[in-house]
Amino acid sequence: MKSKYSNQKEKINIEEIKEAAEEIKKGNLVLFPTETVYGIGANALNEEAVKKIFKAKGRAGDNPLIVHVSSIEMLEKIVSNISNIEKRLIEKFWPGPLTIIFNRKSEKIIPNAVTANLNTVGIRMPSNEVARKLIESSEVPIAAPSANISGKPSGTNVEDILEELQDKVSYILDGGFSDIGLESTVIQVVEDKINILRPGKITKEQLEEVTKNVQVDSHVLHMVKESEKVASPGMKYRHYAPNTKCIMVYSKNEQKMIDKINEITKEEEANGKKILILGKKQHLDSYISNKKWSIGSSKAEIAKNIFTLLRKVDNQGVDLVIIEGVGQEGLGLAITNRLIRACEYNYINL
Ligand code: AMP
Ligand code: MG
Repeated sequence: MKSKYSNQKEKINIEEIKEAAEEIKKGNLVLFPTETVYGIGANALNEEAVKKIFKAKGRAGDNPLIVHVSSIEMLEKIVSNISNIEKRLIEKFWPGPLTIIFNRKSEKIIPNAVTANLNTVGIRMPSNEVARKLIESSEVPIAAPSANISGKPSGTNVEDILEELQDKVSYILDGGFSDIGLESTVIQVVEDKINILRPGKITKEQLEEVTKNVQVDSHVLHMVKESEKVASPGMKYRHYAPNTKCIMVYSKNEQKMIDKINEITKEEEANGKKILILGKKQHLDSYISNKKWSIGSSKAEIAKNIFTLLRKVDNQGVDLVIIEGVGQEGLGLAITNRLIRACEYNYINL
């Protein structure tokens, strides 16, 4: 399939967004930017179209998709019983990077393929203008997981994902680098409590402004054991991981962390291994390895950079990537959640 490419980086081209929307209406796939990461989207009401997403990504059928809406009217057509806490969350955080797991309407307007047969459906309203205009012009909600082959880091810019996805979509809307770089925060409100199923840009601290009763699901930082039931099916799967072995090292005491990373480097290099360090810009001079990349200097920068960097480590001829951890405060929880998976739970917390 030859996909059509549209540059939306500097200025929105509404005519081309409308062309992409025609593809959605026809039941085809469109690659589009959001403020979190790129999405690979299809008409959420068309089961056959949605199945194409699973095929394109090689995604497990029991891992539900997030549905993207452009208005509250669109939301109300597909969910039932929006609670007061959910209403407050919508008011405060939409449009934006918060996915809420709602009860699905009993008429099942959203097909089973989207929700993996669950009675719930994850929905968000993106703030990215190209994404919103695409949904508006399509006149239907758009189901869209992150744009990447399953298991790989999510796409945060078109260049990184062009090779793996260009033959699988009909239209590519290129909006440049994603503003945030990590997927949305996924939450579910159960009675009066907010459960964080996947951390993201909207932090636990921000959610606590709506209710103090906010809990982080244990699988955010811990591996799902076989036969364990998960609140969010996506937690079970290998994710974000390069083929090269990665390890994350973290300590609140920065010097201790740097010393540990240098100790591992020394040991591994003595065994003939080649090491790549992914560390904060301000720490790079302290590392003894001669191969080191900056992940940024603030958490927001690290969030934005991390997936594109993880995609590049496999071509470097190194045996081990040592990644600095960032702790769990604020946006740190989301970064740590992604890095732990990238390292396949191989981490040292001092
Ligand atoms: P992705 O689309 O790749 O960003 O992944 C979407 C994430 O949202 C996955 O981790 C899913 O498991 C989760 N998700 C989507 N819908 C639901 C739902 N109805 N219940 C629980 N988790 C969901
Ligand atoms: Mg994904």
